[in-house]
Formats: sequence, C-alpha cells, structure tokens
Amino acid sequence: MERVDCIVIGAGVVGLAVAREMAQRGLETLVLEQAVDIGTGTSSRNSEVIHAGIYYPPGSLKASLCVRGKQLLYAYCGARGVAYRRCGKYIVATSAEQQTKLEQLAENGRRNGVDALTMLTGAAARAVEPSLQCVAALESGSTGIIDSHGLMLALRGDFEAAGGMVAFDAPVLGGDGGADGVVLNVGGSEPMEIQAGLVINCAGLGAQAVARSVQGMPAALVPPLFLAKGNYYSLQGRSPFSRLIYPVPEEGGLGVHLTLDLGGQARFGPDVEWVDELDYRVDPRRADVFYAAIRRYWPALPDGALQPAYSGIRPKISGPGSAAEDFQLQGPDNHGVRGLFNLFGIESPGLTASMAIAERVAGQML
Ligand SMILES: Cc1cc2nc3c(=O)[nH]c(=O)nc-3n(C[C@H](O)[C@H](O)[C@H](O)COP(=O)(O)OP(=O)(O)OC[C@H]3O[C@@H](n4cnc5c(N)ncnc54)[C@H](O)[C@@H]3O)c2cc1C
Repeated sequence: MERVDCIVIGAGVVGLAVAREMAQRGLETLVLEQAVDIGTGTSSRNSEVIHAGIYYPPGSLKASLCVRGKQLLYAYCGARGVAYRRCGKYIVATSAEQQTKLEQLAENGRRNGVDALTMLTGAAARAVEPSLQCVAALESGSTGIIDSHGLMLALRGDFEAAGGMVAFDAPVLGGDGGADGVVLNVGGSEPMEIQAGLVINCAGLGAQAVARSVQGMPAALVPPLFLAKGNYYSLQGRSPFSRLIYPVPEEGGLGVHLTLDLGGQARFGPDVEWVDELDYRVDPRRADVFYAAIRRYWPALPDGALQPAYSGIRPKISGPGSAAEDFQLQGPDNHGVRGLFNLFGIESPGLTASMAIAERVAGQML
C-alpha cells in the first residue's frame, strides 16, 4: 500500500492553506478532493470579506484565528500578488437600541485586539456615504475584500512548488486508525487505499461524514451538522457606497450586508435559511425580505434593483435558536485516533482565518 507523510482531505481554502503549510514544513503531502477542481465548496460561495475580528467572543478560536489570519492574509496577498482591497466597512445602527449594541460590539472588537475601530455619529457617516441612513456607525478600517479564487490558486501553487500533489475525483469513503497512522479508502475513477502518518480532515460540509467513517473515531465526539444557507442578491447598476455596509448582526449570521467585489459591483447577503440538504438555488421569493432589510439603512434602494445571485451553506455545529459555536479543532488528544485531525464548524470567518488555522494545525500536529 502506498504511504505518504500527510493527507489533507478537501481542497477548499482551508485544506489548501493547511496542505501548503505541511508541504513547506517538509512533509510529503497529498490533497484528496472529491470534486474535479479546487474551491468548489463553501470557499467559492461566500462574501469574500477579510474580516477584522470584531464579532467573536474574546478568547475564542474564531477571534484569535481571525485576527491572526487577517494579518497573515494581507501580508500574503501583498507578497504573492493576490488581488485585495482594504476598503473598510461601516456597521450601522438604525435605532437607539442598536446604538448600544454597536458600542458593545466596538468594545468586543477592542478586546479581540482589532485596531482601526472608530465610532461615528450618523451625520459623520453620511458625510462619507450620503445614501446611508443610520444614527451611528462603527468604522472598521482593517476590513477588506479579497479575490478568494486567486488566493486558492496561489496557495495551490505554493503547495505544488513544495512538492505537494492534489488528487481530484478522489472522495474519501472511509478510514481506519492504527498505530502507524490512518489508512484511507478512496473512491472515484481510480479507487485506492493509502496510508498517512497524518490525516487532516478539512472536508467542510463533509467533515462530519469523513470523521464518522474512520474506524476508531468515537461517534460521540463528532458534532452535529446544521446547514444554514445564505442567499445573495446582486445590485443592478452602480453601488452608491464605496465601502462595505453591515447592519448590527442578527441570529445565525451577520445580517444582510452590502459587499463589493474587486470590480466595484455590489451584492447583498447572506441571509439565514436553515435547510436540510445542499441546494444552492436562490428562491426569488426571498427578495421581499432583502428589500425590507436593506431599506433600513438604504431607504432609496430602487424597486427592481435586486437580482437573485448565488448562495453558500454554513457548516454550523449548533442549530436554530442556539448560541453560535466556536470552530472545533480536534486532534488525537481529544479523540484518541493517532494522526487524525478534524476541523468542524469552519463557517465565517474561515476564509479570513485560513492561514492562521494552517499555522495552528501544524503547531499542534508537528
Ligand atoms: C454564505 C457564507 C458567507 C461567508 N462569508 C465569509 C467571509 O466573507 N469571510 C470569511 O472569512 N469567511 C466567510 N465564510 C466562511 C468561509 O467561506 C469558509 O469558512 C471557508 O470557505 C471554509 O473552507 P473549507 O476549506 O473549510 O471548506 P470548503 O471550501 O467547503 O472545502 C471543503 C472541500 O472538501 C471536499 N470534500 C468534502 N467531503 C469530501 C470527501 N469525503 N472526500 C474528499 N473531499 C471532500 C469538498 O468537495 C470541498 O472542496 C462564509 C461562508 C458562507 C457559507
């Protein structure tokens, strides 16, 4: 049976960042991806925002890995020529009650080590963004946008330059943990069994299924998977805003916000729709909810300006009505399977945190 030092399951942004880190640290590393290209999962179905780290509970993995990941990402984009823009964002309060929440959010961000946070009056925010309606805004100067596909191409390029290989059409069907590492059973057009001293499960929405399929992995330690779909609508015509505009967060997500792509095109989303299956179609009937949510901070949004665009699905490990869970990074110390590392619940800010997650996994496993 063939054997390599390390196998990474999943070629999303997190799997590619982890694989690059492992290969650059000298491990013979293989990525197994069930699809026929990189980044066909959640990594190409998101807002492409480099988050500052404002929202997450101090001390959580989301907070520390977001803040660290943002620094790594900006440095990496600069060095490797990945397109990005530090455009900044406003989180806007549209009522006095929300203003209190905004102040709590600013305090939370500062405790997380987020810099460039400034509280603005409604008038000051409108002086910069005249179309905005709000009573106050929290400006985050370190928030940005990124070409996520460009990032994944660069990570893959580094990985391959360090001797790594990506195998496509290579779904992991099961595994068996033993003293020498994990043996994986791989399907697809060229089925095989392969052993690795280290197996890093970065399968995103498939992470629970992969973990459950490994003999020896305690089922009780595999968290549940809840699917929280986020739909996007694109704006026809030019955006009146030059930075990202977010409402005060709602349960399950950050609220229907305006993001810009690097071409300046605006899109709104994601909302939160709890679903039972992976169906990425955007229901045009959701538009009414979008118009209402957006008009709270942009009253002049014209009728007919929104078009259904795309959706992504958050791999949540807590369900509707429950508090948001932290990222779950699980190594052999947690579950007892030698060489196996599982990543669960890698929802937002997973894109921002990807390189910090890679650093953390390598630090724990090597
Ligand atoms: C609506 C939405 C908006 C978001 N916005 C942002 C944002 O603005 N900023 C931010 O930082 N984060 C954001 N995120 C989060 C971010 O997109 C994810 O955290 C990140 O993309 C996760 O990457 P991943 O590599 O873990 O997962 P994926 O990209 O889903 O990759 C997992 C890969 O594993 C493969 N796979 C699954 N099962 C198997 C198997 N058995 N065998 C082989 N391969 C397998 C899949 O095919 C897939 O390619 C958002 C997420 C959503 C859903």
